[in-house]
Amino acid sequence: MDQASAISYEPGTLCFRCNICGEHCQTALDRLGREEVSCKGCGSSPRARAIIRVLSTQLFGKNLLLSDFPARRDIRGLGMTDWKGYATRLAEKFSYRNTYYHQEPRLDISAVEIPADLLSNDFVISSEVFEHVVPPVSRAFENVSKMLKPGGLFILTVPYTNNKDTIEHFPELYDFAVVEDHEAVVLRNRTRKGVIQEFRHLVFHGGPGTTLEMRVFSENSIIQHLRNAAFHAIKVHREPDFAHGVWWPESWAFPISARSNMLPMIIASPNPVPAGEGTATTTITWNTGDDTMGYVYVSVNDREESFFGRAPQSSTAANWIQTGFRYQFRLYDGTERGKLLAETTVTRNKPSS
Ligand SMILES: [Zn+2]
Repeated sequence: MDQASAISYEPGTLCFRCNICGEHCQTALDRLGREEVSCKGCGSSPRARAIIRVLSTQLFGKNLLLSDFPARRDIRGLGMTDWKGYATRLAEKFSYRNTYYHQEPRLDISAVEIPADLLSNDFVISSEVFEHVVPPVSRAFENVSKMLKPGGLFILTVPYTNNKDTIEHFPELYDFAVVEDHEAVVLRNRTRKGVIQEFRHLVFHGGPGTTLEMRVFSENSIIQHLRNAAFHAIKVHREPDFAHGVWWPESWAFPISARSNMLPMIIASPNPVPAGEGTATTTITWNTGDDTMGYVYVSVNDREESFFGRAPQSSTAANWIQTGFRYQFRLYDGTERGKLLAETTVTRNKPSS
C-alpha cells in the first residue's frame, strides 16, 4: 500500500468490527473503557463484545461474528438480565432464554431451589450480576453448576480487583431493607442472631435504588468459588481482541469461563466391531470429566489387565480386535488402579455363515 492510498487516522485510533452487529467502527483508544458505548451500530461496550468472543471461541473453537454463528437450536442457553443487544441475537441462533430478577421468566440465582425449566443448559451467561447477589455468594456459583449439563459452559463477568480476597460489604445479611433516612440511603439489617446493623455509604450500580453492590470480588476468590462448585477448565480471558474492539485499559475484570463437571466416561466406536477378515479397529474415547489424568487398561477374556493409554481425555484406536474375544477397557484414576471410573466391553461380530 503506498502512502497516498493509506487512510489516515489520528494516532491512537482503533478500527474494529463489532462482533455483535457487524458494524465497522473506530474509536479513540484512550476513550475505550470496559463499559464505554463504542459501537455506533448497536451501542455495545467492550464487555459485551468480550462475552460474545468468549462464547464463540468456547462453543465453536473460532472467534466469529455473532451473525456468523451457526444456527443451533439444539444448544440451550440462559442469560441473567443479559443486555438485549446480544440477547435478541442469541435467541435467533440458539434455544436461548434471558431471565430476570424482577420479571418473567424469573430467576433468583441466590435461591435455594432453581425452577426445573431453567436447568439443563449448554451455556449460562452471567454478566455484572454476582456482585449484587445476596450472600452467601457461594450458593449462586453452585446453582449455575446445577443449571448446566455436564461439561456445560459458564461465562461470568463481574467487576473484580487483583486484591487477595473478596470484600464482602454485608457478610451477615439476613433480614434487610434499603430505606431512605434524612435524604441518605441506608441499609438496615437484622442478622441471623438478631443483631441490628445499619450501613451507610452504599454503592449502587446504575444509580441509587437499582442494584446494590454487595461485594467487590477478587480474581482469586472467583476462581476458588468456581472450584468449590466443581467447575473445571477455568479460564480468565485476559488477551485483547482488537479486531472486535475487545480491550480496556485496566488489567482486571476480564471475562471468566468454566465448564461444569462431567461424569467420567469411556466408550468404544464401533462396538460391536463389524465382522471381517483379519483384525479390526475400534476407537476408545474417554474423559475423566475433571481434567485429572486418566489411565486406561484393557483385559482380554478376563485375563490380567495391560496398559492402553493415559490422558485426561483422548480417542485412541485399538486395531487388534478379533472375533471370539471379550475386551474390557477400564478407566482408572491412577496406575495403582485404585478407583475404577468407567468401563466398557468391546466384542466383534462373528462372520455370518
Ligand atoms: Zn455493534
